[in-house]
Amino acid sequence: MEAFDCIVIGAGPAGLSAALNLRQRGKSVLVVSSGEPLLARAERVDNYLGVSGVTGAQLMERFTAHAREFGAVLRAGRVGNVMPFNGRFMANVDGEILETGAVVLACGVSRARPVPGEADLLGRGVSYCATCDGMLYRGRPVAVWGLSDDAPGEAEFLRGIGCAVTYIAERRPEELDASVAFCAGRVEAILGETAVRAVRVCGEEIPVEGVFLLRAAAPPDALVPGLAMRDGFVETDTMLRTNIPGLFAAGDMTGKPLQVANAVGEGLIAALSAAEYLSERETQA
Ligand SMILES: Cc1cc2nc3c(=O)[nH]c(=O)nc-3n(C[C@H](O)[C@H](O)[C@H](O)COP(=O)(O)OP(=O)(O)OC[C@H]3O[C@@H](n4cnc5c(N)ncnc54)[C@H](O)[C@@H]3O)c2cc1C
Repeated sequence: MEAFDCIVIGAGPAGLSAALNLRQRGKSVLVVSSGEPLLARAERVDNYLGVSGVTGAQLMERFTAHAREFGAVLRAGRVGNVMPFNGRFMANVDGEILETGAVVLACGVSRARPVPGEADLLGRGVSYCATCDGMLYRGRPVAVWGLSDDAPGEAEFLRGIGCAVTYIAERRPEELDASVAFCAGRVEAILGETAVRAVRVCGEEIPVEGVFLLRAAAPPDALVPGLAMRDGFVETDTMLRTNIPGLFAAGDMTGKPLQVANAVGEGLIAALSAAEYLSERETQA
């Protein structure tokens, strides 16, 4: 895939606004998004200036068409992690590594309640991305908690590298290989002192050495190691720069008000900052 000047993660109002405004400043942009944006669930939106009485889905259709019209490329996929590398970024999109010059995070808020044990054992058996961390667990027993559309594919990746996979979800996905063990339910707790030794599902302990929590949206600091957070939101300055040069954030993930108008405005500001950052680097090169 061609290298884009900027990758925007999330195709909600913030991400699409960032993409449109990056295009208007002549930057190529890929928008990667893993699921339905929140707004699509709104039955009626009345507080976005100039547009009233529309459904959230209608507004999202207009936003998407507008960004596409100006040349933003949209791709369905989940970004597992973003790593700064040599002044650029490597983004893992469903196991494919894409290189880019700048990144705008527009992932919305993760409304998932953390599982007991998750924070303590993060990086010591708890992971949010099988294709990123799976090799560490090659040949070992692991659990996959499948809450996102791509979870069966991630489980298949783990099975392919020799892991003994137990898939946990409400229902067994049709595409899951017959050799993968299935457990109906949800992960209630992750157990272990210094590393994961088991997960608890429906009161039963399943011994595993790794657990992959595959939610549609991961906490931002799990997506980008070292990302500064404040009160659960990404910390930014007024130009929506994060603590990592070349990485910007917009929309619900930077904090309140969690509303469309704020997300669209922040998408614009993040795009201006990203475009300026990219242009400065071009001049220096
Ligand atoms: C039912 C409902 C009704 C609402 N009504 C209104 C209203 O009337 N007026 C109003 O102003 N606001 C309303 N809101 C709030 C509004 O929807 C949000 O403020 C707005 O959508 C935030 O935009 P965003 O782009 O920051 O995030 P989102 O719209 O949440 O978009 C984020 C996108 O990023 C994707 N994503 C997350 N992580 C990853 C990853 N790792 N890789 C790839 N993609 C990823 C998600 O799947 C999602 O598609 C409503 C919200 C809900 C739930």
